[in-house]
Amino acid sequence: MVIVHCARCGEEREGAGKVGLPGSLGAAIEARICAVCWQEWLGTQIRVINHYGLRPAEREDREKLYEITREFLQLAEPAPEV
Ligand SMILES: [Zn+2]
Repeated sequence: MVIVHCARCGEEREGAGKVGLPGSLGAAIEARICAVCWQEWLGTQIRVINHYGLRPAEREDREKLYEITREFLQLAEPAPEV
């Protein structure tokens, strides 16, 4: 069991573990998101997919979904300094 300092809730909790998402997003979730927040996202994700009518088989829709995932989990890249 891995304890992470969660980027979303700010708690020290058991990590989400392997989430099966590609690249930096999957790595960021595994390193910085707790199991509780991840479960919350899995529930929300279904509503997001329905709300936007996303087809996760389509690359473009998948990227949109990953973007929303980052926002929800507060893993978004910090806004560049102006
Ligand atoms: Zn959390």
